[in-house]
Amino acid sequence: MPVYTYYCNTCKISDDHFGSFEDLMASRPKCDRCGSDMARHIGVFAKTAGKWGDSLGYFDRGLGQYISSPDERERIMEERGLVEVSKAQLDEVQHREYTEHIQHQQQVSLFQDTMKATNNNITQSIDKTFNLTENL
Ligand SMILES: [Zn+2]
Repeated sequence: MPVYTYYCNTCKISDDHFGSFEDLMASRPKCDRCGSDMARHIGVFAKTAGKWGDSLGYFDRGLGQYISSPDERERIMEERGLVEVSKAQLDEVQHREYTEHIQHQQQVSLFQDTMKATNNNITQSIDKTFNLTENL
């Protein structure tokens, strides 16, 4: 049986579940810790750590290592011969997760750039990141 990785947005933790595809589509597992519905994560997109990780990166479960920037992730994937699943191959749920993932990467990049530009002004960096995101 395949293993699927689920993520709890409340607790910021992920968990692996076994099951048939039908089982997994029929119901979402609940978080062991808080009881919330967990979201399915797919392959290389799955990651642990909170939305901002430690603010300057996150642990990529798919790659099994800490990633500090989208560029670094791309380089590692290239080195290992990994290919991102194409948008066309994704179903609706996967497509949404893919879009969120890309937005997340853009936000992390912008946040990091703004941190550098503002001499690590976190408030200003968060403001700029989210204002731009809302206008996308
Ligand atoms: Zn939870």
